[in-house]
Amino acid sequence: MIFSKWWKKEPLRFECQPDCFKCCCKPGFVYFDKDDIQRAAEYLDISPQKFKQTFLTQDGRYWMLEVEENQACLFLTPDGCNIHPAKPKQCQTYPFWPEIMDSKNTWELTSAFCPGINKGPVIPTDTISKLLKNKTDL
Ligand code: SF4
Ligand code: SF4
Repeated sequence: MIFSKWWKKEPLRFECQPDCFKCCCKPGFVYFDKDDIQRAAEYLDISPQKFKQTFLTQDGRYWMLEVEENQACLFLTPDGCNIHPAKPKQCQTYPFWPEIMDSKNTWELTSAFCPGINKGPVIPTDTISKLLKNKTDL
């Protein structure tokens, strides 16, 4: 995907909103690559194998956690993500995903879902670049 990098030309604000958790309740898949599995397993003090067996499903070479309609990610607790310091890159980098950052239009469309978009401090462009590069290794 070729980025227009429109976000380098204007200040972009983002601040995750307290007690929102909308993106942890969205139906879909939370992907875990090898590093994500290692980090989350270490945080929970279990082996990567045990982490996969206990929490993830496999589709080919992909490991993932499915969030079904009207449900939340199984790591979500009333206080937030139970593996927050070790959450997978997919979650660490939201909403700075290539498909969201592709254009101002996709960013603004996502703001209808994520109330943190266009709020809070301006995010430096080099931070955005790093987040865009810190992708899940699928
Ligand atoms: S939807 Fe946005 S504001 Fe809400 S928890 Fe996710 S990142 Fe934070
Ligand atoms: S792993 Fe944590 S941050 Fe990611 S979707 Fe699940 S609860 Fe949310």
